[in-house]
Amino acid sequence: MSKPKSIAIIGAGIGGLTAAAAMLKLGMEVTVYEQAPQFARVGAGIQMSPNAMKSLRGIGLEDRLVETGLQPLTSLNVAHDTGEVTNELPLRAEMFDRYGAPFLCLHRADLHDALHSAVPDHHIHRGARLSGLVQHDDGVELSFADGRTARADLVIGADGVHSRVQDEVIGPVNPVKTGRVAYRATYPAALLGDLRLNQSRTKWWGPDRHIVIYYTTKALDEVYFCTNQPEDVSWSTPESWSAEGDLDYLKAEFAHFHPEVRAVIAAAPKVHKWAMLVRDPLPTWHAGRLVLLGDACHPMLPHMAQGASCTIEDAVVLARALAAFSDHREAFAHYEAVRKPRASEMQLEASQNKWMRRRTDPSWVYGYDAWSTPLEPETELA
Ligand SMILES: Cc1cc2nc3c(=O)[nH]c(=O)nc-3n(C[C@H](O)[C@H](O)[C@H](O)COP(=O)(O)OP(=O)(O)OC[C@H]3O[C@@H](n4cnc5c(N)ncnc54)[C@H](O)[C@@H]3O)c2cc1C
Repeated sequence: MSKPKSIAIIGAGIGGLTAAAAMLKLGMEVTVYEQAPQFARVGAGIQMSPNAMKSLRGIGLEDRLVETGLQPLTSLNVAHDTGEVTNELPLRAEMFDRYGAPFLCLHRADLHDALHSAVPDHHIHRGARLSGLVQHDDGVELSFADGRTARADLVIGADGVHSRVQDEVIGPVNPVKTGRVAYRATYPAALLGDLRLNQSRTKWWGPDRHIVIYYTTKALDEVYFCTNQPEDVSWSTPESWSAEGDLDYLKAEFAHFHPEVRAVIAAAPKVHKWAMLVRDPLPTWHAGRLVLLGDACHPMLPHMAQGASCTIEDAVVLARALAAFSDHREAFAHYEAVRKPRASEMQLEASQNKWMRRRTDPSWVYGYDAWSTPLEPETELA
């Protein structure tokens, strides 16, 4: 019997931890390398649609997340000033009946904690910033910024939008700044005073900007908002993915929005801003023993709330492909062939920022199950 392949996963974000959990479940040997010295409660709200929840169910996390997150009543889309409803999609029992899993609004850190619980600590090296990769016929040598080295049969780049592994797969390609910025805040709902928000995921649509607001917990004790508006982004660097923003500036930018929106912004103790980056679909997601997933190969605008869900799907399909094909080249080719068309379609749809504004059929997104989707692509492999 051949020796199991050793797999190094670069990045313990949403995609890296999902891949590790799925691969451990399928009996593979994995080691995760994460640049951060420890996991902090960073980030903000995140939406997990039924397609992602089916993937997370497969690694045993559905019940835990349902206990923590809010199952929003509806996806509520309204005009920025009058609050007139333009579209409302029920997200509770109807979602489950139609797509076989719940829809959740969560704090990213609660999702990350759950994923971390599915990957025993001895599989994770923290403070390990990948700085170099050398491919050989029989494996890959990895080097880290602190001088450590390692070796693996295969390397998965789950290292996000500024991926170091992507540099080796296709050469450095900088993501493109869109000239739009998201301001985000998460804070205790008690800071809203007497204001009670609805239990929907509400998007207030203005002519050139919008804001999404929801509770991130089942207990309704934490509120999240995320705006999106045009702004000069010359301040943005790879390190400043979440710089602190100016609350007074933000209030002025949304002064023409409905009073409820203004109250939610005014109650925030502080706000972070995040320059929106995009990338055209890459020519390939793999080279030799290296393969990419998530933001490393298809960063997308957050307008469909599918960046993390699509990444989670990638991780499950990649794990299944590696389990199904003993030759990694075949596994990578099948993985890319079945995942890239879907991820590219999501990138395109997200960039148009029309999702759910008016009546929308989300079946092609929410109906997907990464654990059962065929690994054979619809068209023949090249
Ligand atoms: C800290 C953080 C907070 C976020 N908060 C939100 C949010 O609130 N809402 C939302 O919708 N999206 C958020 N995102 C983005 C969202 O999580 C991603 O779009 C999605 O999860 C894609 O996941 P990913 O695993 O591809 O990338 P990421 O989740 O970005 O994970 C990449 C991981 O790789 C690590 N890494 C990068 N380079 C190296 C290297 N050279 N060596 C080792 N490790 C490396 C990073 O530290 C990170 O842990 C956040 C991302 C980050 C990193």
